[in-house]
Amino acid sequence: MSTDTSVARPRPALLDQGILGFAIDGQWRQPRSAETFATVDPATEQVLTQLGVAGPDEVDAAVQAARRAFDGWAALSPEHRAKVLLQIADVVETHREELATLDSLDMGAPLLLSRGMVDHAVEIYRHYAGWPTKLTGHTTPAGPGQLHYTRRQPIGVVAAVIAWNGPVLQTSWKLAPALAAGNTVVLKPSEHGSLSALRLAQLLAETDLPAGVVNVITGLGGNTGQALINHPDVDKVSFTGSGPVGKHILRTSADTLKRVTLELGGKSPLIVFPDADLNLAATVAAAAFCMGTGQGCVAGTRILVHRDVREEFGELLRRAMDQYVPGDPFDPATTMGPLAFRAHLDRVTGYFDVTRAEGATISAGGHRLERLGLFVPPTLLDDVRNDMRVAQEEIFGPVAALMSFTSTAEAVRLANDTRYGLAASVWTRDLSAAHRVTADLRAGTVWVNTWGAMAPGTIPFGGFKESGIGREHGPDALLAYTETQTVMINL
Ligand code: NAD
Repeated sequence: MSTDTSVARPRPALLDQGILGFAIDGQWRQPRSAETFATVDPATEQVLTQLGVAGPDEVDAAVQAARRAFDGWAALSPEHRAKVLLQIADVVETHREELATLDSLDMGAPLLLSRGMVDHAVEIYRHYAGWPTKLTGHTTPAGPGQLHYTRRQPIGVVAAVIAWNGPVLQTSWKLAPALAAGNTVVLKPSEHGSLSALRLAQLLAETDLPAGVVNVITGLGGNTGQALINHPDVDKVSFTGSGPVGKHILRTSADTLKRVTLELGGKSPLIVFPDADLNLAATVAAAAFCMGTGQGCVAGTRILVHRDVREEFGELLRRAMDQYVPGDPFDPATTMGPLAFRAHLDRVTGYFDVTRAEGATISAGGHRLERLGLFVPPTLLDDVRNDMRVAQEEIFGPVAALMSFTSTAEAVRLANDTRYGLAASVWTRDLSAAHRVTADLRAGTVWVNTWGAMAPGTIPFGGFKESGIGREHGPDALLAYTETQTVMINL
């Protein structure tokens, strides 16, 4: 296999601090157990560093620190919490390059993409800094001599468990609304993307965040993650990850009635009507499953095209896919990085065999590249029926199925014929048709003549059906970190 040694690979100081520990109660703690796990750069397959596996005692210490910090944090004035959130935004912005570099090394996203995600995270912290001072209840109509009102109380200790595809960003989606509402947090990042969360925990020392309000522990899902979600002193689990683990968390949380938010996977349709700007639709369709190497929950992996324009669109799409050339995340020319880790590469390439076994065809890509690193090219599947596994299961790589339809009703039926419901993208110049179709789609976000747009915290994001429970962003996310308290006074 060839190796590309021409690109300079930065090495942030975090990687030379020995076995990385945990941030608990405002202190850096070395792991008690000798058990560690390696984090591997997917572009070079070299070990970056070793991280600690938090055992039950350390999980308990992190939860207890969050519990102790809760009353003080919740009692601070809204202005104070707002100020701290602004400081967090500033610290993330100041260390933009370092945090983006850590994410790119960890999970292989092109540096440009990681920088964009850090910028988005900064906006999220700033957005939620505006909320502590605006989190109000209601005064409700009551009889004579009565005063009835509601107030929003924080829930308590939040276990934030996240995935690896955008660690800085996903951390902000959890921390910002949870802290704004007055909760404390134990964050467990993915074992495939823990570095930036640990560095952020170190950087929080530069802010006025009280000790114990944010704790970061690392480890594998089945031990550290499991111990965290099982902990009786955790009041809410906010999870981003796969469906099976999400369902497991929901079941486990039933015992202590933990509040649960789940942000899970998708198999999102992109519907192209014949009157659409086909050039633009094809360009965006390629981005929708190639950007981030297709490792995005909202990836547009089922491309439904009207039969009348299928040939033309297919040609345009293949040309647009050529813009995504797998390469080193630190090469400024790179538009698509590697897959994030070895087992994931095996999983994605396994679907190439599934495709053939099901009788579908691969009209572009469909193999691992002969070079160092976990690279696969953009892959287009043809002759796919919507009931095939490759049209129903989340592959989470740069792989899309091209299918066609003949009527709007058929397009909607195919789009909705999935257990997921995270996102959809509709392409037409007919505004009425766009509104009619969006209303019929069972998806948490519908983009029209675009895909992947995210507002900086203002508009809700989340899934219908098996794509999740609850919403991130905006007031919806904030309220999901609160309990409503009703007060009734006999005056
Ligand atoms: P995953 O479910 O394997 O892991 C997610 C997190 O859960 C990790 O931190 C892991 O350590 C932890 N975990 C695993 N088993 C656990 C257990 N038994 N108890 C507690 N924690 C456990 O998912 P992944 O591979 O990291 O992420 C990919 C998935 O995430 C995809 O399905 C993707 O669509 C989804 N995702 C969704 C969104 C969204 O906002 N909807 C965003 C990004 C990713």
